[in-house]
Amino acid sequence: MDSYQGVPRQLTAEELSVLAGIVGEEHLVVRREDLDAYSRDGTEGLQGWPAAVARPASTAEVASLLAFCNGRRIPVTAQGGRTSLSGGAIPVLGGVALSLGRLDRILEIDEENGVAVVEAGVITQTLQEAVEARGLYYPPDPGSRGSCTIGGNIAENAGGPHSAKYGVTGRWVLGVEAVFAGGAVVATGGKTRKDVAGYDLNGLLVGSEGTLAVVTKAWLRLVPRPAAYGTLVAPFLTLQAAAHAVVEITRRGLVPAALEFVDRPAVEVSSARKGVGVPYPEAEARLLVEFDGGGEAEVERDVQAAGEIALDCGAIDVVLATDEPKRRLLWEVRRGIGDAVRDLGSSVELDLAVPRTELVALVEGVRAVANAAGLRVVVFGHAADGNLHVHLFHEGKPKADPARFQATVGAVYAEAIRLGGTVTGEHGVGLTSRDYLPLLRSPAYLGILRAIKSALDPNGILNPGKLLLS
Ligand SMILES: Cc1cc2nc3c(=O)[nH]c(=O)nc-3n(C[C@H](O)[C@H](O)[C@H](O)COP(=O)(O)OP(=O)(O)OC[C@H]3O[C@@H](n4cnc5c(N)ncnc54)[C@H](O)[C@@H]3O)c2cc1C
Repeated sequence: MDSYQGVPRQLTAEELSVLAGIVGEEHLVVRREDLDAYSRDGTEGLQGWPAAVARPASTAEVASLLAFCNGRRIPVTAQGGRTSLSGGAIPVLGGVALSLGRLDRILEIDEENGVAVVEAGVITQTLQEAVEARGLYYPPDPGSRGSCTIGGNIAENAGGPHSAKYGVTGRWVLGVEAVFAGGAVVATGGKTRKDVAGYDLNGLLVGSEGTLAVVTKAWLRLVPRPAAYGTLVAPFLTLQAAAHAVVEITRRGLVPAALEFVDRPAVEVSSARKGVGVPYPEAEARLLVEFDGGGEAEVERDVQAAGEIALDCGAIDVVLATDEPKRRLLWEVRRGIGDAVRDLGSSVELDLAVPRTELVALVEGVRAVANAAGLRVVVFGHAADGNLHVHLFHEGKPKADPARFQATVGAVYAEAIRLGGTVTGEHGVGLTSRDYLPLLRSPAYLGILRAIKSALDPNGILNPGKLLLS
């Protein structure tokens, strides 16, 4: 990525005063020291300053703000929890950071229809806990669920470990209320489960990364809360054996709620940071397999079957999480990998996805590229979806050699594409994959994306600099 392309837009005193009139003086942040937090997201090493942060409390305020900014060609970058790992929430071209944090109400949990109606700024885990208290379940569970928002999840079409069974966020979005660049407010759906009236605008906005509209509200599908969980870990001496087990578990008709892959370096960094020992340190790869269901017996049967398949495929052992604290510890080691790598030094995280049968080729290809560049690498992720997170890193900060990272990243993306994969499975294109999108998508495909962008946001004010090279 060479540059963000363009000079960050500043705001005049008159523009600031109009914005303050819309959201209220106390909800317009302008002091440099207060803007710092809004100039970053979860992506390491990237920063871009907004000229101001507006914190609206209603859809009407969002609509007025967008209408004004559209007229003045002021960039607007929507922000939820600012946990994006693709640089998506960074206001790289200045202007207004539109923080949705005050739109944080769960408006309704409709148990009979199995639908939650929520504002965009609701924290994902807050919604999950609220519906679970009513015996219901909202499955999308990004690792950041304690701080990311429903609006950000919709904008990134976020996934998580339990996508193996439940799919990514888009599968749960029945409709959104969205505000377009000129200020028009549109609902793309509601509580109706099936609705094919017209182009799938809902599907278009899901995953649009704040570049087409700002989501202010969502209708989300719920299912009954699983009554039982069963979790196992299977260590393998080779990558090949672990990958074979991934294919066999799914091919033989089991539907794990989660099927996670973790390579040896990833286990080493995460368990060292947590200060816990893990059995079978010689294992080159581990699978964490979880089942959920309506009752203990059903879950136990699936865990047993998956364990047998793992052993057939060459697992050294099968370790069951027999109680909730053990299950939690397994997930903590798995979820702690990203932070452990970030603590060690400078890193770049890639979010690759390939067909499941190419998992070994991807890991080996990535390691070869990293070795040649003198970088360390850990690989882990959502094996059932072929979605692996690759952290390239070297110990120590700051980044000694950004050019080395950049060249390596390009080679890794090329490898994923060569294997029939993609440059992002769940984190979004944002800034970090933007320049590599043309490796994956044809000029005709990119032309259609540009046509959609210019039809819906003709002045290019919504999250400029992201997803598409202009
Ligand atoms: C520790 C950690 C673990 C993570 N684990 C996962 C994981 O397992 N799976 C996964 O998919 N991701 C994961 N992520 C990435 C990130 O949490 C997700 O992309 C999440 O969906 C971002 O939500 P957010 O509210 O933080 O959005 P932000 O980071 O604030 O914004 C993300 C993007 O959405 C846009 N946006 C935000 N709100 C709106 C809105 N209301 N309307 C329109 N556009 C909007 C922004 O402009 C930006 O482009 C993880 C991140 C961290 C830091």
